[in-house]
Amino acid sequence: MSRDAIRNAQCSCGQFRLTVRGDPEWVNMCNCYDCQRRSGSAFHIAGFFREEQVLENEGDRTLYRRPTNEGRTLDLEFCPVCGVSLLFRVKLRPGMVAIHAGCFADRDFPAPDKIWFAHRAHPWVVLPPGENMTPPPE
Ligand SMILES: [Zn+2]
Ligand SMILES: [Zn+2]
Repeated sequence: MSRDAIRNAQCSCGQFRLTVRGDPEWVNMCNCYDCQRRSGSAFHIAGFFREEQVLENEGDRTLYRRPTNEGRTLDLEFCPVCGVSLLFRVKLRPGMVAIHAGCFADRDFPAPDKIWFAHRAHPWVVLPPGENMTPPPE
């Protein structure tokens, strides 16, 4: 873990970019269908940072609000040019910003330590060790 590491995240075209200091407080891996759709991939990974860790937050973005699996709201900010979603905020976690791990393009980014909706994971996905946050299957 590194308190002073400087990390840069950006969208695909590079106009929406963030700089953060230090490691995320935690890293979520979510296998739910909403996250599969959002990411266009088999699961989503995001690091949760305290707002004060964000040193720079630049570029145009569009807000998309959607309900969460728990019936709350999730505010996604995505690049209006290339469509990549770089971050989101949830009401449940005031003062925190979740930044999509892939946008850092950094293989040293901390591994997920909270695993959500494991029962929605594709059968070929090998889940990393971490706290199982999965609610019981419906
Ligand atoms: Zn972009
Ligand atoms: Zn999810």
